[in-house]
Amino acid sequence: MENSINLFNKAKKLIPGGVNSPVRACKSVEADPLFIEKGKGCRLFDADGAQYIDYVGSWGPMILGYNHPQVIEEITKVLQRGTSFGAPCDLEVMLAEIITNGVASVAKIRMVNSGTEATMSAIRLARGYTKRDLIIKFDGCYHGHADSLLVEAGSGVATLSIPGSPGVPQAFASHTISLPYNDIEAFRDTMIKKGDKIAAVIVEPVAGNMGLVKPVPDFLETLREYSLKTGSVLIFDEVMTGFRLAFGGAQSLYGITPDLTCFGKIIGGGLPVGAYGGKEEIMNLIAPSGPVYQAGTLSGNPLAMAAGIKTLSLLQEPDFYQKLEEKSAHFENGIKTAAQKADFPIFVSRVGSMLGMFFTKKEVQNFADAKTADLKAFAQFYKKMRDKGIYIAPSQFEVLFLSSAHQKEDIDTTIKAVQECLTRIKI
Ligand SMILES: *Cc1c(COP(=O)(O)O)cnc(C)c1O
Repeated sequence: MENSINLFNKAKKLIPGGVNSPVRACKSVEADPLFIEKGKGCRLFDADGAQYIDYVGSWGPMILGYNHPQVIEEITKVLQRGTSFGAPCDLEVMLAEIITNGVASVAKIRMVNSGTEATMSAIRLARGYTKRDLIIKFDGCYHGHADSLLVEAGSGVATLSIPGSPGVPQAFASHTISLPYNDIEAFRDTMIKKGDKIAAVIVEPVAGNMGLVKPVPDFLETLREYSLKTGSVLIFDEVMTGFRLAFGGAQSLYGITPDLTCFGKIIGGGLPVGAYGGKEEIMNLIAPSGPVYQAGTLSGNPLAMAAGIKTLSLLQEPDFYQKLEEKSAHFENGIKTAAQKADFPIFVSRVGSMLGMFFTKKEVQNFADAKTADLKAFAQFYKKMRDKGIYIAPSQFEVLFLSSAHQKEDIDTTIKAVQECLTRIKI
């Protein structure tokens, strides 16, 4: 394999920016991307012969670590039957059964190929169901790159300082109302004024695309209360949090029942999958049982289903989430102590195995708070950590993910690196 620099130079001539998804390019931290040769457990190995303890987890799916032997074995077994049939197969039914059994609000589910497809389709379905056009989202929440959802979309768009996106017609964007996350008052006011025109309220129940932002008490409850009052569809985008924070997702953790839920990432076990599901009455409107059209050539393909089934079955082992929580709490405490020892103020926030490290003194409750972070300091931190063999996302607006493959020693090595790197940042 050629080294990362050569590959990136070649890639830049062939692929816009040299990457197939923007944040990977490491532009905002003024670094070049590493080309990865392989992953194993919590480690990534790059084309330059270096290895890293990883906290990106392919941006969320790899909750069992890379190259998990049982997941690989299952994919290999199913691979012998063929890669795609474009006809129903038993594995789709099995994965649908696991998800509907695991997530109480989901009576029926439709498989798609990415999180973007899931949210885009759920929005269409909500509009078809309510016969309304407007949707409400929250600043800094990312719901994939469908036109009407690319408004104040956090994550990649924020990292690259792109406000909305050229190419999204004004008419589409005008159907999206974006409100500050955790602003109960602003939401209530909007629903009182426009509730009867709102098709859907879509939210990341724990926001993970502006760094990690927890919902304040009563925020999710208010979304539920007012969407019920106005007949708007409440959509939980659990593409990141689903099967990550608990088997039943953030909705089980916070005890809220949305009308529709979007999944992706973990349910595909590292293969391309998304899904959306929810109340039977709403889901029955999807073609062919109803008139709302949505389709996919490779949807429910056997390899992705097999990887998902095996992954979810391993997550059901006793104490899986409890053990991950203990490791994650140790990680959080370690980072907080490291920052104190380095005398470098940061705001650390965590839910389960998702952790945010904001380079600001402010308590971060919304996107405006997140944007007070010192991005130059973060860029220095990113590069120093990478030099020490720790791989985190190249953006202040992403979270760190832990997996069951991280051992206490890996976490302790990381904490030590955090302290050393914070000590050396120049502001
Ligand atoms: C990753 C993500 C998406 C988009 O999923 P893709 O598979 O990248 O299209 C949507 N919503 C949330 C909350 C996500 O984290």
